[in-house]
Amino acid sequence: MCKGREPVAQLYFYYSAMNAGKSTALLQSSYNYNERGMRTLIFTAEIDNRYEQSKVTSRIGLSADARVFGPETDVSSVIIREHQQTPVHCVLIDECQFLTKAQVEQLCCIVDDIDIPVLCYGLRTDFKGELFSGSHYLLAWADKLVELKTICYCGRKASRVLRYDGQGRVMSDGAQIDIGGNEKYVSVCRKHYNEAIREVKAAEYRS
Ligand SMILES: [Zn+2]
Repeated sequence: MCKGREPVAQLYFYYSAMNAGKSTALLQSSYNYNERGMRTLIFTAEIDNRYEQSKVTSRIGLSADARVFGPETDVSSVIIREHQQTPVHCVLIDECQFLTKAQVEQLCCIVDDIDIPVLCYGLRTDFKGELFSGSHYLLAWADKLVELKTICYCGRKASRVLRYDGQGRVMSDGAQIDIGGNEKYVSVCRKHYNEAIREVKAAEYRS
């Protein structure tokens, strides 16, 4: 019988293409916990800074302090240490596509052994249509998968990300993460992604 049991914490993966309001959704969830007097712990990926303390900012102007994780960060130790000082009611992770397999395993333990819900927000695929490592293991292991939707210029659901270089040309190849570049990313539907990539490949073939 499950009657009378406490609710069990779960691991959530909120995924989308670019610009679907992931950081806004994260900050709203954190706010909801804080409003009820509950403590949250926010993490974001170390991309182009060396700071231990950073911020999650949303395009509509909200922001909150966050801890930074790199590939070597032992996220479970950080969470457990904080939780021992003052109880943590929810962990929120921005840019969770950059988590390693080991870090997703650690987050599963936080949910299952410490009973703290973990909410991860990030991209499903990169500009080549390939899964990021964090997204790969979150899709495999999360309890709840929630798609945050955004639309292509044609009105269809955008599920892909096109990467443009500094000259405004679509890139079909390159490293998954390019630090300090001035490229930009645009979310499009699968049809318009494939059309754009075919055009680039055809142009490369002609030249
Ligand atoms: Zn489209």
